[in-house]
Amino acid sequence: MRKIALHWQILIAIALAAVVGFTINQVSTDTSTPSIFGVEWIAIFDYIGRIFLNALKMIIVPLITSSIIVGVAGIGSGGNLGALGGKTLLFYASTTLAAILVGLLVVNAVGPGFQDGEPVRDILALEAPPEDFEERVAGRGVGDVAEIFLRMVPENIFKAAADGQMLGLIFFSILFGYFMTHLAHQYAEPLFNFWNAVFHVMMRMTEFIMLFAPIGVFGLVAKVIAETGFDAARPLLIFALSVIVALAIHAFVTLPLLLRFIGRVDPLKTIKGASPAMLTAFSTASSSATLPITMESVEENIGVSNKVSSFVLPLGATVNMNGTALYECAAAIFIAQAYGFDLTFGQQFAIVVIALLTSIGVAGVPSASLVAIAIILAAVGLPVEAIGVLMVFDRILDMCRTSVNIWGDACCATIIARLEGEKTKVGIGDQEPA
Ligand code: ASP
Repeated sequence: MRKIALHWQILIAIALAAVVGFTINQVSTDTSTPSIFGVEWIAIFDYIGRIFLNALKMIIVPLITSSIIVGVAGIGSGGNLGALGGKTLLFYASTTLAAILVGLLVVNAVGPGFQDGEPVRDILALEAPPEDFEERVAGRGVGDVAEIFLRMVPENIFKAAADGQMLGLIFFSILFGYFMTHLAHQYAEPLFNFWNAVFHVMMRMTEFIMLFAPIGVFGLVAKVIAETGFDAARPLLIFALSVIVALAIHAFVTLPLLLRFIGRVDPLKTIKGASPAMLTAFSTASSSATLPITMESVEENIGVSNKVSSFVLPLGATVNMNGTALYECAAAIFIAQAYGFDLTFGQQFAIVVIALLTSIGVAGVPSASLVAIAIILAAVGLPVEAIGVLMVFDRILDMCRTSVNIWGDACCATIIARLEGEKTKVGIGDQEPA
């Protein structure tokens, strides 16, 4: 029998999970949900999903460390690293800005915060956030914009790794890889071999874990749908749809144009290659947890060299969040509309800048952008409590924006690889990159 490709298996799992989750949601009451042998189905889905997520997260720290060290050391010392790093950061900043502007335009054009010309404040019953709000946002993302830079230099690298502060780990690994290339050959070589071997073991472990992806994804998605169902207030639905449209414009128009005209590659082939990573991002809502799959898809399917992917992707998983930045901006504007606030140009500009900066510091974990939105709301003088209403759709939008985050990373890796003169597997004919 022909084996079904992994991304199809994952898609089928998502569809099945939607059906099963929705059925459970429909037969649940306020006080009870269906169970088997006394164990609730939702708890079973949660358990399955958590094992899968944990398995992915388990390899994040060694994967980020080894891939960046090997990537930086492999690029070599001096100007080469600077050039690649410069291009990468420039690409990240400009695509994120483009994404934010699309979000700004769509939400301003659709106006989900108004119904029949009136702000939807009362319809949404904007009030104090749910009790677990603080718990949900505590310790995630950034506490402050300036904090982003502070967290790049953690006082204890092991604590940073244990706390999931990836920016600190990335910075440390870049320095480690860079200075490794300055050692005498007899020291540099064994170190390089060691980290390279660790990196390869991590990639093998990823392949193994991915065999279980359809089961894990089923658990994650079924739980979300069983708990929330599909219904919610109309303004929120319109807001969610606006965000999805804006994300789609960025993912299917802006990024493909860059792929086609700067990278000179076939956008369709590229998206097909990246699809296992995007689907995993969709179901885990975590860029960090998806990183192993992103690296594998970009190298194996798109044909980007390990030299480029091992530098660009681990950095991108934390730093480059196109979808998150777009969402942050759209959410802040929506809340302003719902309260009937007329945002000045200056305030809208502030929202754009803070969305850009905070998206860099947001951790690649589910719901991480909620705290960044809180920062934006506070900065432009909107009630932070309003963030509670965003939670209705947060998970589903998180799934969508995380896929776009990953797609942005994959596009960047592909374009940088082409600019570095690589052929890749998605190039158009013999065309050289621009
Ligand atoms: N879940 C997103 C990610 O991991 C971050 C966010 O927008 O909340 O990429």
